[in-house]
Amino acid sequence: MASVLVVEDDQFVRSALIRHLTEASHTVRSVGTALEALREVAHIGFDVVILDLGLPDLDGAEALKMLRGVTDVPVIIATARDDEAEIVRLLNDGADDYLTKPFSVEHLSARMSAVLRRARGAVAGGEAPSGVVRVGGLTVDPLRRRAALDGVALDLTRREFDLLAFLAGRPGVVVARRELLAEVWQQSYGDDQTIDVHLSWLRRKLGETAASPRYLHTLRGVGVKLEPPR
Ligand code: CA
Repeated sequence: MASVLVVEDDQFVRSALIRHLTEASHTVRSVGTALEALREVAHIGFDVVILDLGLPDLDGAEALKMLRGVTDVPVIIATARDDEAEIVRLLNDGADDYLTKPFSVEHLSARMSAVLRRARGAVAGGEAPSGVVRVGGLTVDPLRRRAALDGVALDLTRREFDLLAFLAGRPGVVVARRELLAEVWQQSYGDDQTIDVHLSWLRRKLGETAASPRYLHTLRGVGVKLEPPR
C-alpha cells in the first residue's frame, strides 16, 4: 500500500490508473500538469510519482528536473515514446524506472513494488554495507564479499562481484549502462563492451545465458536489471 501521485493529462489513462491503483489499495491523487505536480509534492509526501512525459505545460525532462529539485520521491516515467536515448537520459537524470505505454496493470504494479522496495530499503538502511541481499535464490553479502546461488558459493572476480552486488541491491530496477560505469567501474565514460563482457562472464557463473535469462535481463540500448526468476 502506497501513496501515489499520478501526473497525467489524458483523462482516459488517468481514470484507468486511478481505478487500478485504488483497487490495489493504494492512495491516489492525480494532477494533469507538471506545475500542479510540483505544488503537490511540495505539500504532500508521496511514496511514488508516476509521471507522464507528454504534459501540456512542461517537457518531461524539465518536469523531472524540477521535481528532483524539491523532492527525492521515487519517480516512474510513463511514456508513449519508445525512445531509448531519451529513456536513458531520464534514468540518468533521476528517474527511478520507466514504463512504455500502453502498459499492463501487472507491469505497473511490479515496477512500483521494485521502486518502493528500493526506496524503503534505502531509508531502512537496507543498502548498508553489512546488509545481506537476497533476490530469489541469490544471496549477496557485500561486507564479506561473498555471493551464493541456491546455497552454492559463486566464485566471482572483484568486478563481477561489484556488478552483481550493485544490481542485486536494486532488484527489478533497470540500471542504465552509464550508471553501471559510474558506480561499478567509477568511470564517467567508457566502452559498453566492457559491461557486456563482464555481464556475460557473470551470466555464465549464474548458469544462464542472454538468450534465456533467469536473473540478469538486458534491455537493449537501455540497461540491465536483476530480478528473481519468474
Ligand atoms: Ca500526455
